[in-house]
Amino acid sequence: MAMPPQLARANRRHCRHSEPRPTVELMPAICITDLRDAIPRNYGTNIYSSPFRYPQIRHLRLSYRSIEIVDHHDRSQVFGIQWIPTYFGKHRAIFVCSTCCCAAIRLFGRYGNYACRFCQGAQYLSQKQNTATRKRLAAAKLRLKLGGWPDIREPLPRKAKWKHEKRYQRLRNQVHALEAQAKQTRFRKEIDIRTFGYHVADSN
Ligand SMILES: [Zn+2]
Repeated sequence: MAMPPQLARANRRHCRHSEPRPTVELMPAICITDLRDAIPRNYGTNIYSSPFRYPQIRHLRLSYRSIEIVDHHDRSQVFGIQWIPTYFGKHRAIFVCSTCCCAAIRLFGRYGNYACRFCQGAQYLSQKQNTATRKRLAAAKLRLKLGGWPDIREPLPRKAKWKHEKRYQRLRNQVHALEAQAKQTRFRKEIDIRTFGYHVADSN
């Protein structure tokens, strides 16, 4: 059957049958900043079994120039590690994505294969949303920064003793401004709580 003219005219960006692009915040990731201190600075290998931060991985083998990721199915993937000058003394380690050979801070897993965010075709949650949802998400992340709960219905936390008054006020005003705009929209869905996993882990 010929394609109906409405469908032919439709400006589809993606094939309807292709999988949606994965979301960065929801993918298992290995971050070089977690591992910098674990990388041996000379010849030798450090092996980590069932690393606490990475339940999806059985072993991590770290050497000065490479990292081997072995998952629970004994599949192994090796990535290069480069040391880049920072102009403040020590060189800083960074992963090299095996697919595109570009530098990457994080490697993301999809069906057990690790690669950089671009090779995985992953998008940040904020890239997938319209303006109102993006504002709600930004407000939720700021709420976490202030030490509170991300939900708009929760009261904003009081200023922690060790925080600067001005900084606290600024963040609070930003949350109010973003939420005032987001409140004009009726959202059908809650924000997926897993989205904040990285932000919470990051602030510790
Ligand atoms: Zn890549």
